[in-house]
Amino acid sequence: MKMHLIKENAIVVTKTAHTAEEFIQKKIELLKDEVEPFFAVDLEDICNKHIRWLTSMPRVTPHYAIKCNDDINVIKLLAYLGAGFDCASKGEIKKVMDLGVSADRIIYANPCKQSSYIRYAHEVGVDVMTFDNEQELLKIKQCHSNAKLVLRLVTDDSNAVCRFSMKFGADMNTARKLIDKAQELDMEIIGVSFHCGSGQMTSKAFVDAIQNARMIMNYGNKLGFTMKLLDLGGGFPGNTGTEEYFAEIASAVNATIDEHFPENENVRIIAEPGRYYVASAYTLATNVIASREMIDPETGAVKYMYYINDGVYGSFNCVLYDHYVPEPCLFDKNKSNDSYTSSIWGPTCDGLDCIQTSIQLPKLEIGDWIYWKNMGAYTISAAVQFNGLPFGKPLYFMSKQFWTSVKAAFQTAPRRYHIDASILRLNSTDCSNEVEDDMLPWLPEDFAED
Ligand code: PLP
Repeated sequence: MKMHLIKENAIVVTKTAHTAEEFIQKKIELLKDEVEPFFAVDLEDICNKHIRWLTSMPRVTPHYAIKCNDDINVIKLLAYLGAGFDCASKGEIKKVMDLGVSADRIIYANPCKQSSYIRYAHEVGVDVMTFDNEQELLKIKQCHSNAKLVLRLVTDDSNAVCRFSMKFGADMNTARKLIDKAQELDMEIIGVSFHCGSGQMTSKAFVDAIQNARMIMNYGNKLGFTMKLLDLGGGFPGNTGTEEYFAEIASAVNATIDEHFPENENVRIIAEPGRYYVASAYTLATNVIASREMIDPETGAVKYMYYINDGVYGSFNCVLYDHYVPEPCLFDKNKSNDSYTSSIWGPTCDGLDCIQTSIQLPKLEIGDWIYWKNMGAYTISAAVQFNGLPFGKPLYFMSKQFWTSVKAAFQTAPRRYHIDASILRLNSTDCSNEVEDDMLPWLPEDFAED
């Protein structure tokens, strides 16, 4: 039984639902002295996000942005559930297609692409791709002349955590000129995309962007293009506690698309959510590997520095790149009423490797575990093993009962894409066990006791 929980990349199908905290505690008990960092990945949470998406915005087909977290099991799960994919490079396209996802489920959503990658997209049949400038149009003409182009518009992303509009997107005038140019070059533009910035908390940016898209698509249609795709981009919040913001955005999006893109026009509407799907599903467990007691020279108070075994070069790169402020959580046994000003540092030899500069914590001991919620977005996809140090490895869990009901629901629900379940099974390098029919179709046969 122990082996199932310890095995890297194992998926633990539990008899009843677990919280991430329970799952982590169970694993820690089993691991004893083995203290490498790990993620508890709640696959139910990802399924629930998908169900919430489909019920909140039934007209919008999600294309998961794998840059956010390219964990192969997340891709497989979402592929199985019928999502499409937003890929940003040859590598991402290959990763998704190697799992058996067909080219028509992929949008190559990077407005500035390397020529050889455009040629690769052409070779493998990925035709839908974004652009936002004339040079890109000329490049695509040379490398993939029958590409189906999606013109990316600039947005007001001033309320987002991570902004993109300083780098990508055509303004309204430029967009019209690009449509003129595409006509001159005999290129096909099929629609418009935008991105309201990652971690967008207001619906207004989406409403304004959809209205702008409508104007640009009207312009294109007048020139003789058939504008039939609207791509809402990413930006939808995904942390636990942001459900209300998501609901507000979804309801504004629904109202605006119904007004400007009524169903009878048959415009296909997609989006490229990344963090929405994965942020809350990943909880990172880290171990205190060293500590230092200090006296504050000004106040004389005792302060502590803690060193844990994952840091900003690893899973916590979100602190640097994603403006994330992770909050440490402790198990009850570590909680006492005394608290001290503390800082939390990663394991590398770099002074930049700081996760929390100042926080009140009870006194921790070497060997204590700290866990961190909402660690699924822009964490492992950008992590490196600087100083030869590993970062958190994902360990997945899901209750069998839940999966059975989800699978039944998705088998009878009309799929937006055809899915051949057999290609989503794990290949022999991923899994030494056979897969049972009533289990996750792509997962190894790993059971844990409750
Ligand atoms: N689409 C594009 C083109 C992006 O650049 C990104 C993020 O960088 C996303 C989608 C995903 O955004 P989010 O994770 O905020 O949903």
